[in-house]
Amino acid sequence: MTYRIDAELLIPGRGEPIPHASLVWQGKTILYAGPRSSLPDLFQDIAGLQTVPVVMPGMWDCHIHFLGATAASMDALPRTPQAMAGARSVPDLLATLLAGFTSVREVGGYGCELAPVVAEGRIRGPTIYSAHSAISMTAGHGDVHGMPLDSLRELCSSGLPLTLADGVPECLRAVRKQLRAGAKVIKVCASGGVVSAIDDPQHQEFSLEELKAIVEEAGRARRIVAAHCHGKAGILNALHAGCKTIEHGSFLDDECVALMREKGAILVATRSVIESSLAMRHLFSPHSFQKLLALADAHRDSYARAVAGGVTIALGTDQFLSSPDPNLGYGRNGRELEYAVAAGLTPLQAIEAATANGPLTVGDQAPQSGRLQAGFDADFIALLKNPLVDISVLSDTANISHIWREGRRLK
Ligand SMILES: [Zn+2]
Repeated sequence: MTYRIDAELLIPGRGEPIPHASLVWQGKTILYAGPRSSLPDLFQDIAGLQTVPVVMPGMWDCHIHFLGATAASMDALPRTPQAMAGARSVPDLLATLLAGFTSVREVGGYGCELAPVVAEGRIRGPTIYSAHSAISMTAGHGDVHGMPLDSLRELCSSGLPLTLADGVPECLRAVRKQLRAGAKVIKVCASGGVVSAIDDPQHQEFSLEELKAIVEEAGRARRIVAAHCHGKAGILNALHAGCKTIEHGSFLDDECVALMREKGAILVATRSVIESSLAMRHLFSPHSFQKLLALADAHRDSYARAVAGGVTIALGTDQFLSSPDPNLGYGRNGRELEYAVAAGLTPLQAIEAATANGPLTVGDQAPQSGRLQAGFDADFIALLKNPLVDISVLSDTANISHIWREGRRLK
């Protein structure tokens, strides 16, 4: 079957918006996206035609986690049975999809196990490109510091999506373990973090030699590496090792921005998690909350510096908290576009960062996604209002009238 919708405005993801446009697709693939006046004769008479105010690509959240966690602490992970995490993830995936996000890059969590269930059509959710575990050094951001190390290692080898690695041979094995679990991207913790207990966001984690081994091993399987990093030392180390995306990037100075441009690296700033965490102090340990306060303002400045410096931006929220409270839980992803505009992108650039730039963060694993163009995946959303006039249109799911993923209408 071939389908077509007409739109008063088509935002293609990359390039200029097209007024009075048509979009035609068959199965999972777009056949035509362009002005109605140039529509090929073949597509003139299609039954069930609808007209919508705005159509744009389904968005990508390039930094999200599906862990079923109910606290902002690494301890929450081993304390959450895996079946419970999976069950909580079912509504979380639906909320993410209904926010207009048809693809996610899941950088640590149960995404490798959840992806096939979405693909089977058993549950509604975005297409998931998962890293499986974040790879961390012992005592790093991906370690659960309060737990006996041997018990943790045992849980890690029975499905808990955390992986500790120390030294080059273990780093190689850690990458291979993620590939074996179905990872589409490799995630590494290159600096300390906020929700982990004792490590410092300013500290570099992993040596250059270890990170290079991870990047090279990932590269042999045509996977790119996403590096969690806040402090400058970790950012520079990740860039020198060849990590393709910098996650958070809280302390980017001019030297970091210049190196990001030189390396062609992408920033996934995850402003949402900073903003929403500041409002949920009760879910953090006092020490973790102090770490958050120490980087929140620097993070805002770094994001603006990267935008002004011409760094490629892709959007991610770092949503990790499973909660029935709509102000804490999944489905608020569209706000990340408001933060992108606050950091200096135009609304059109923010949409590009949330659509066409998304697939860049998984390299070869999703080459034909995030754009409305012939040959690309038929993932798109229809809106009642124009987000180029007011970007906050995308923060309110009531403005999203329809969602199609792989050519199938899911809303
Ligand atoms: Zn994260």
